[in-house]
Amino acid sequence: MPAPNALLAAVDRYWEERILPPLTDYIRIPNVSPAFDSNWSAHGHMEAAVALAHRWCEAEKPVRARVTVHRLEGRTPVLLVDIPAAGVPPDDPRTVLLYGHLDKQPPFTGWEEGLGPWSPVLRDGRLYGRGGADDGYAVFAALAAYRFLEERGIPHARAVVLIECSEESGSPDLAAHVEALRPSLGAVDFVVCLDSGCLDYERLWLTTSLRGNLIAELRLAVLAEGVHSGNAGGFLPSVTMVLRRLLDRIEDPRDGRILVSALAVEIPDDRRRETERLAALIPAERLRAGFPLLEGVRLLHEGAVELHLANTWRAALAVTGFDGFPSVREGGNTHLPALRVKLSFRLPPTLPVETAVRVLRETLETTPPFGARVSFLPLTGMPGWNAPSFAPFLERACEEASRAHFGAPPQAMGMGGSIPFMNMLAASYPTAQYCVTGVLGPHSNAHGPNEFLDLPTAKRLTAAIHDIVAAHAASKETP
Ligand SMILES: [Zn+2]
Repeated sequence: MPAPNALLAAVDRYWEERILPPLTDYIRIPNVSPAFDSNWSAHGHMEAAVALAHRWCEAEKPVRARVTVHRLEGRTPVLLVDIPAAGVPPDDPRTVLLYGHLDKQPPFTGWEEGLGPWSPVLRDGRLYGRGGADDGYAVFAALAAYRFLEERGIPHARAVVLIECSEESGSPDLAAHVEALRPSLGAVDFVVCLDSGCLDYERLWLTTSLRGNLIAELRLAVLAEGVHSGNAGGFLPSVTMVLRRLLDRIEDPRDGRILVSALAVEIPDDRRRETERLAALIPAERLRAGFPLLEGVRLLHEGAVELHLANTWRAALAVTGFDGFPSVREGGNTHLPALRVKLSFRLPPTLPVETAVRVLRETLETTPPFGARVSFLPLTGMPGWNAPSFAPFLERACEEASRAHFGAPPQAMGMGGSIPFMNMLAASYPTAQYCVTGVLGPHSNAHGPNEFLDLPTAKRLTAAIHDIVAAHAASKETP
């Protein structure tokens, strides 16, 4: 625990009084991302969430800030808060871009008794409900940081808080918004992303790499129609046999290692060193405890370094959907004719998605088992990201902010997940510095049941962002 400091105490009060009530209301809105509600526009939930955040920003913003909603035909909106620079030379062109999103994952099943996606519950300092941590808190935390800078008269560069509404669908709308907004965003030299994770709630966590993602459909067929499994069983190849053999071409079923060598990359030395420090901090048992693994179920690898690398710098496969299987109740004695399988690949940060598509198609479609019909259809893909090394100001600011507000030094980590926005920004602003952080820690379960926002972490992070953007303004290191 850090020694109490005035900023953190004030941020704590502000969170309790001014952020918790609207954030609680926000959780009640079922504004799932467009990928999960094709009728999102007619349903009006997204609009309600944006309106809630808009009203709050208007009421709480720094005096000279402007709050607007940027709209493009047929796309989800983007909420913008443009905060003019304060206390820096008038010709300082720098813009800090702070990113978050308001759209949510679908509810999922398995919520504990008394909890639910759209019924917020505050319990033991954690706010349960869908979208509080991923990523509803971001707009509140970002604006609060600037409110405190203003209140305390601390200089800061111009900032734009950009909150999108299509992230959980892979940000299909964001590029168009950023393109349209680019002239008004100006010289972005520092990006703060508040949609990432943390491996404990005891320090400031910085994400230095993200994996890419490739989602594809695998279609396989052996019959023109289903047939009696007694009449045919024993000499017909089944769709499950075909599937098993295809999956075995990609993934070692004993430890999940990806067998396609072209899906591996050279892991940079600095990232390896970071991972070694990380492994000392988060050993295998600790990593395991972050997930609701059933007793007796083992992890895929021995050794913390390998576990962390497997999650951040190596490719991995999850089979996430099937069409073609009847339910257990409805299944008869039938050989199924065909299957459609959804494959979700995580890709190493520096591997181009096109490479993955090409080698996976080759691997799956060439000489199909039993001559079955097999096709590999990529659905969506997003590249990973590897952070530029930290400028001295950022290194120092993170160190000091983490010690001041968390009472421990910060730690860098690779993320197993993907944030499409990061890659897009990295391409747009290649010389910018990136502070990618977030509150999605152990058990916070952003895409499953029982999602929660750990409030002490959200408060400390708010104070840390305050300090880090102040350090950015004071630094002469960036253009
Ligand atoms: Zn998110």
